[in-house]
Amino acid sequence: MRQLIAGNWKMNGSAAMAAELAGALRAESGLACDLLVCPPATLVAGVAAALKGSAVAVGGQDCHAKVSGAHTGDISAAMLADAGASAVIVGHSERRADHGETDAIVRAKAEAAAAAGLMPIVCVGETEAERVAGLEMAVVGGQLAGSLPSGFSGVVAYEPVWAIGTGRTPTEADVAAMHAFIRGELAKLLGDAGKGMRILYGGSVKPSNAASLMAVADVGGALVGGASLKAEDFLGIARAVR
Ligand code: PEP
Repeated sequence: MRQLIAGNWKMNGSAAMAAELAGALRAESGLACDLLVCPPATLVAGVAAALKGSAVAVGGQDCHAKVSGAHTGDISAAMLADAGASAVIVGHSERRADHGETDAIVRAKAEAAAAAGLMPIVCVGETEAERVAGLEMAVVGGQLAGSLPSGFSGVVAYEPVWAIGTGRTPTEADVAAMHAFIRGELAKLLGDAGKGMRILYGGSVKPSNAASLMAVADVGGALVGGASLKAEDFLGIARAVR
């Protein structure tokens, strides 16, 4: 399966920036990977319109577990789909930390995403303290068991919290060990479906380290934060995929 390079714009961007970035992505051809951009909710419809008919997919950064109702400020997976999204990130560590999202909430969101026809990208990853304590596999194993709905179909993103936005990355050996562990857990939880599922690596991916990280066994692509905000950086990462 082709690797997936997904950009998470987080709470960044404007209509002008989105139009420029979408134009640059649209103009790119011959990539060996799939591309997905996840702008803030206000820009999803505009970016989806700008990328319509191109090979670049658009996703949301979060969704509510319910389809509709009295949830001020939230948006549902169905609303994202209606705006032109085909995927949604759920359980990003910033949502888990800033909004108290538990594994059970993430699981409900992943179920809602699938029900709306979106591809869920479920994020997992340990904190620095957990890694220092040697608990990274236990933590990630628990997150997978708690966050993935039964019969899950989608993408898993391994994002060590301490690597997000810090410029620090795990060694390639550490990435390989964690992705092999996740592969084994997915096979246990999901059977054959888990054997071919994409497992993205996320955390300070940039053009200069993308080729080596994307060459690690069981790495099915990247979830990119900061470097997804500039076309040259995001495309630099995508071009590094062989
Ligand atoms: C992220 O937040 O998903 C992320 C990977 O951020 P960054 O690339 O900036 O570390």
